[in-house]
Amino acid sequence: MPVITPETIRDLASFKSEGFPVTSCYLDVDGRRLPRHQDVEHELDVLLRDVREQAGTSPSVHDDLQRIEAFVRGGLDRSRTRGLAIFSCSAQSLWEVIQLPVPVRSRVVVNNVPAVGQLESVVQEYDRFGVLLADRQRARMFVFELGELIDRSELLDELPRDYDVRGERERGEVTQHTDALAQQHLRRAADVAFRVFQEQGFEHLSLGGPDATIGELEGLLHPYLRDRLCARIPVAPGASVDEIRRAAMVVETQQEREAEAAIVNRLRDAVGSGTRGVAGLDAVLAALAEHRVEVLLVSDGYQAPGWSCGACGVLAAVGRRCKVCDHEMDELPDVVEDAVEHAMAQSCKVEVCIDNADLDVLGRIGALLRF
Ligand SMILES: [Zn+2]
Repeated sequence: MPVITPETIRDLASFKSEGFPVTSCYLDVDGRRLPRHQDVEHELDVLLRDVREQAGTSPSVHDDLQRIEAFVRGGLDRSRTRGLAIFSCSAQSLWEVIQLPVPVRSRVVVNNVPAVGQLESVVQEYDRFGVLLADRQRARMFVFELGELIDRSELLDELPRDYDVRGERERGEVTQHTDALAQQHLRRAADVAFRVFQEQGFEHLSLGGPDATIGELEGLLHPYLRDRLCARIPVAPGASVDEIRRAAMVVETQQEREAEAAIVNRLRDAVGSGTRGVAGLDAVLAALAEHRVEVLLVSDGYQAPGWSCGACGVLAAVGRRCKVCDHEMDELPDVVEDAVEHAMAQSCKVEVCIDNADLDVLGRIGALLRF
């Protein structure tokens, strides 16, 4: 399965449709929710029915929908695919199918740009994630991406087992010796983690194992790894890979929610003090038009109608005259998706926030500004 990267998304976001509409289709094909292929077809039918009613007469969109339908009906290997993201603009020969190992919200958007917001959100949601499990003689290192295992290393340093049959004085010496061996083992575990980090790279690292061991291990990690530490993972070092994977996804989700909360707090402070922060669709689109946005924050699923200027490209919440060039603007069914695309084209960071009530209160969209 090809791994999607921020570059894949930026390439899509920079696609120029030359005025033709682009169809973006997100389809949940999760076998746990939709066990039979006909369940998937039904999911798609319902989605496409709505779009066909709204799509009007664009032959390009008609072709897009036919092609998407034929693709899905043609059958899918769903053993590792839980979500599809399909982008099509038949008039401009755009056809891109991205298979995701995680579920998506089923949705079809016809717009003048590919609707990459949900894809961006998925990639953020599942950064590369390292897990290091250790006890006094065993260490296991895993790297997950998009909820899939992509790398594992195992290390076993056996400790002497016969010290309990010796005399007390001798036992003391052996215990010291065993502690030294255990510490050496943890150093090696920290080295393995750093080597894997250099080879694979990961955004976050979660440690798991007995508290005392993990406390000691934390102190032995390379500073780069210490910077990436997040909440501990509640699994035993001997857990199955699937248990570890599921627990890692829980820790990762929690980590992502915390990161979102932190950046929304920054936004709230910036907006409150009137320094380098704006909130609400109108203000955000104005800041985007002036290329002042550093980070765009959007509540997951937020959509709003708006306007786009065919002459200078500027977006606005209120039409129909462009405030920049006075040209007449075109109405858009969803200007938020365009705002995400504009932000990405300007190399802004885009943060899609899930269930963040503070951002909802601020108008579901906001921006930290460069100046
Ligand atoms: Zn204009």
